[in-house]
Amino acid sequence: MTKTIAVIGAGPGGYVAAIRGAQLGANIILIENREVGGTCLNRGCIPTKTYFRNAEIMSNFKRAEEFGITAGEFKMDGKALQERKNNVVGTLVKGIEQLISSYKNIEFYNGTANIKDKNTISIDLKDGTEKTVTVDNIVIATGSKPQMTETKGVDLDGVITSDELLEMEEIPETLIVVGGGVIGLEFASIYQELGSQVILLASRILKDADKEISRRLTPILKKQGIETYIDIRAKEITKEGNKLKVLAKYKEKDEEIEVIGDKVLIASGRGPVLEGLNLDELGIKYDDKGIFVNQEFETHIEGIYAIGDVNRGVQLAHVASAQGVYVMEKIMGHTPDINMDIYPNCVFTMTEVAHVGYTEEELKEKGIPYKASKFMFAANGKALSLGEGEGIIKILAGEEDKKVLGVHILGSHANDLIHEGALAISNDLDINSIMRTIHAHPTLSEAFFEATLGLENQAIHIA
Ligand code: FAD
Repeated sequence: MTKTIAVIGAGPGGYVAAIRGAQLGANIILIENREVGGTCLNRGCIPTKTYFRNAEIMSNFKRAEEFGITAGEFKMDGKALQERKNNVVGTLVKGIEQLISSYKNIEFYNGTANIKDKNTISIDLKDGTEKTVTVDNIVIATGSKPQMTETKGVDLDGVITSDELLEMEEIPETLIVVGGGVIGLEFASIYQELGSQVILLASRILKDADKEISRRLTPILKKQGIETYIDIRAKEITKEGNKLKVLAKYKEKDEEIEVIGDKVLIASGRGPVLEGLNLDELGIKYDDKGIFVNQEFETHIEGIYAIGDVNRGVQLAHVASAQGVYVMEKIMGHTPDINMDIYPNCVFTMTEVAHVGYTEEELKEKGIPYKASKFMFAANGKALSLGEGEGIIKILAGEEDKKVLGVHILGSHANDLIHEGALAISNDLDINSIMRTIHAHPTLSEAFFEATLGLENQAIHIA
């Protein structure tokens, strides 16, 4: 009998799961109450990376003289920025809609799903009608939404989340960013280039990154012009005429600061979207971080799965998609062959940060013997030709078996370079497999190659 599987939410978790399920022969019922593509495509990854490209171009204009180019006056037009973003998003949304409709075994419903029991979902359709469907399995992929801090004054006009910032045509003169995680840092870096004076208030910078990398990133942010305060917590936001004032207190010392800006972006994390899921009645366990799932992303109720941002794992689009594929393969009786613990983390600050696998701190904590090798972008020909000599690649490998354990990159195109490391770690490769691979010249990948050679004291361009 053909299985019928409901997927609630058509973000990168849900729509990818739906397509994989359809490829494997299931009847898929895909339910989405906003736009296909979810947060990632409409309010996350793609809009920010479209802005990132504008920020890169602005940065190039600012540096034109360095390359012997005389640039005239230039400034970012916020309306044009919005239009470009909306065009890119619109094109991709249409593409995904077409993809979904090309599968005859995917029934798509634009509406809100309410789970009635483990085999029944009622859908409040956008046209005002209701539809009830009966299914064998349910995959919850309802994603996440911005979470506000408990800072006083977050309800004031001008205190915004990433959702509102991405809808704004205006480029604020001064933007205060609260939060040193990926989202906060990306917006800080992007808006500084787009023309805002950014003030960053962060209790930590990239808490999951290797400490050496986050330590090296801080001066880069400052050099970019971002007024950066670390080890600090925003306490209260108040109105100061038509501006906003943030009072912040250092964590370790008894000192406070006040900063004034036009908008305050709260980037302090995201929480799960659980409305309509009826979790309490179903007996599905959850907390404010998301739904509890086992190693196979199954909830406490057999046959109901939770993937992507809505479960208590990491919040990344590619992780949501990988979980979606995994779950569908499992439901359809296959044995998915993928290491779900290894995934690249990418940060689109103006000098990019990417990492995969263990950090040095984690290896020390676990008592795993390792060797570390670093290569500076300053010694890489391609990086210097690009004018991007700032950066470092650090490779961590097992002392005995030489298996690649962690790769940490701060530098131009780090987010593309990281995949050689991800490939090595996911496949349990040792450093010899990288060392015997001829890397093209002149490329940034040579920095990766040299860092690996350095583990055996064979690097050519390290004195
Ligand atoms: P979502 O993308 O949130 O999709 C869930 C969908 O379910 C939504 O469309 C929602 O409307 C729908 N839904 C919810 N409840 C119901 C219901 N009851 N019935 C029907 N539909 C429902 N990740 C990266 O990997 N790279 C990046 O560069 C990156 N940049 C980001 C930048 C920003 C500003 C933000 C906010 C996030 C970023 N992320 C990035 C994170 C990424 O967007 C998420 O990890 C990803 O979208 C999670 O996918 P998902 O499918 O789990 O959920």
